[in-house]
Amino acid sequence: MLVPHGTEWLAIVGIPLSQPPGVASIDIRDTAGSPTRLTFRVLPAHYHTQRLKVSPAQVDLAAADLQRVTGERAHLQAALATFSPQTPATLRLLVPVAGKRSSSFGLRRIFNGESRDPHSGMDIGAPLGTVVIAAADGLVIDVGDYFFNGNTVLVDHGSGLITMYCHLASIGVHPGQHLTSGEPLGTVGATGRVTGPHLHFGVALNRAFVDPALFLPAAPAASRP
Ligand SMILES: [Zn+2]
Repeated sequence: MLVPHGTEWLAIVGIPLSQPPGVASIDIRDTAGSPTRLTFRVLPAHYHTQRLKVSPAQVDLAAADLQRVTGERAHLQAALATFSPQTPATLRLLVPVAGKRSSSFGLRRIFNGESRDPHSGMDIGAPLGTVVIAAADGLVIDVGDYFFNGNTVLVDHGSGLITMYCHLASIGVHPGQHLTSGEPLGTVGATGRVTGPHLHFGVALNRAFVDPALFLPAAPAASRP
């Protein structure tokens, strides 16, 4: 993502949780096509780890579920690779639903010694049926019912910025639909693999899920965990 910054351009890069600390680089091509490599240093960030012991049946997926999850993961990766050239109207996103926000981005859960992918978004607790809104202007690029994420909507805001809304009870939009900032797209639910109704809100930049809190106004004091 490139955004105008005074008389210059600012490159904003999403760094995945899986990125090892150290030197990383981006290649910039001007209109003539000649590449320039810019290097930058990725510093370590520390996230919590939870070790849990549960019955093996709760950890190991049945063969059919595993096959479904594998297919859905490929589908989601393809959707996240969407790149539309426009610059997002803003990088300050709206809170998609009011409620208590978890600060669990990056939390890694280890079940019976087996590591799972770290938590890649923000969970916002809200009652079943509460309206969920688009965090910014964008185009609906995917709608589906997925094994882990339940009823899900993906919205493309341009330049590789994509927001994801999961576990919805109902979906009120369809792929190809343009949404304006704040427009309803569904309702809070408990679909997919969840223990109760909440919104899982994901923000991806250049295919990497990044901490949604970076884009949201600070939570009101009363709702801070
Ligand atoms: Zn979540």
